[in-house]
Amino acid sequence: MSGGRSRAIDIAFVGAGLASGLCAYRLSQTRPELSVALFESGAAVGGNHTWSFHDGDLTAAEHEWLKPFVTSRWEGNEVRFPDRRRRMATGYASVSSDRFRKVLEGQLGDAITTGAEVERIEPRRLRLCGGQEIAAGCVVDGRGHRPSDHLRLGFQKFLGQEIDLEEPHRLLNPIIMDATVTQADGYRFVYVLPLSPTRLLVEDTYYADGPDLQEDRLRKAIADYLDAHGWRASKILREERGVLPIAIDGDIEAFWNEKDGVPAIGLAAGLFHPTTGYSLPDAVRLADRLAAMPDLSAEAVFAETRRHAVATWKARGFFRMLNRLLFFAGVSSKRYRILQHFYRLPDPVIARFYAARLTLPDKARILTGKPPVPFGNAIRVLARHRLTGELA
Ligand SMILES: Cc1cc2nc3c(=O)[nH]c(=O)nc-3n(C[C@H](O)[C@H](O)[C@H](O)COP(=O)(O)OP(=O)(O)OC[C@H]3O[C@@H](n4cnc5c(N)ncnc54)[C@H](O)[C@@H]3O)c2cc1C
Repeated sequence: MSGGRSRAIDIAFVGAGLASGLCAYRLSQTRPELSVALFESGAAVGGNHTWSFHDGDLTAAEHEWLKPFVTSRWEGNEVRFPDRRRRMATGYASVSSDRFRKVLEGQLGDAITTGAEVERIEPRRLRLCGGQEIAAGCVVDGRGHRPSDHLRLGFQKFLGQEIDLEEPHRLLNPIIMDATVTQADGYRFVYVLPLSPTRLLVEDTYYADGPDLQEDRLRKAIADYLDAHGWRASKILREERGVLPIAIDGDIEAFWNEKDGVPAIGLAAGLFHPTTGYSLPDAVRLADRLAAMPDLSAEAVFAETRRHAVATWKARGFFRMLNRLLFFAGVSSKRYRILQHFYRLPDPVIARFYAARLTLPDKARILTGKPPVPFGNAIRVLARHRLTGELA
């Protein structure tokens, strides 16, 4: 275990991943009088990820404070489908976990304890494996996603490789979905980030019913994708993998009732975009909310994180309805058609979709046009795959 501190802890974060890291960073910037601590079971904060987001996901003020974490930024992004190729003029950016760790270590130093697995959490106390008990004014659960009987999920699973190429790839912007690849195991696409003129992050991705990840098959698929584009790898620098929750349905109040008064953030709070599984914009927003709270007692933080997470979940029912169509309404090899149809829409509607800020007219536009799945099938699917029995 590494790390150490001498003062009483005002707020302790369990897990030092994306949400905890951003909250602790923001608190230490705006409330330097507080004593903040992070307990991470892994060897380093942040794990092994590349976290990306669209420009429109964040406000100008949020972009500003996140700046030190951002490693790459692009002016646009594109998608490719069998019958549609589209370039969006909306910016895109990424945060590497390496940069995340450096910024957090610089800002928080001794507040971070790594190699510290927490086995029990209470609102004002945590216990480390090995038995040490640590008291704090407030303990926050930032341990990431864990299964719950109250959330019904599909999965976005992927394996990514950061690859140095022998020659420049000539891509200017990310391809956030290349669904011209052979469809398999649900909706399949390849995600490509041009990190430098000769370096790519390539992820083979599946919107699948089950979480199993056959890593060797995905590595082979990435090698085939490079071949098909005439790109030759000189070195595979690193790999990352993920199985992200995609929300199909859920009872968010019951999910929070299980927390026994312990505040939660990030995926542990159910705060993620229902259709992409991405959580960076939600984590940024919640970090600002916590930093603005005058009272950071366990009771106040629990009430605020619960209220915010429940309201956010409830406002996103439309996305869960779309997910039910995506996962259940058609033959799985044709799921790509739903996204292909969606990408006929103007840039601002697409930007609001990713930011989870759709207006009523946006929702109407998404559902109009020639439907990519048979109508009768869609109605049956919407009714069947609910935990709560409601339609949307
Ligand atoms: C490879 C990958 C790529 C992703 N890409 C994106 C992206 O581009 N954009 C985006 O917005 N989202 C992305 N996501 C999805 C999501 O935003 C991330 O999973 C994000 O890291 C979730 O944040 P979190 O803080 O809730 O959990 P995490 O970042 O997973 O942090 C949880 C931390 O808690 C620690 N922990 C767990 N249990 C304990 C314990 N008992 N004691 C102590 N520590 C513990 C873990 O080791 C981990 O470090 C990605 C996910 C993965 C896996």
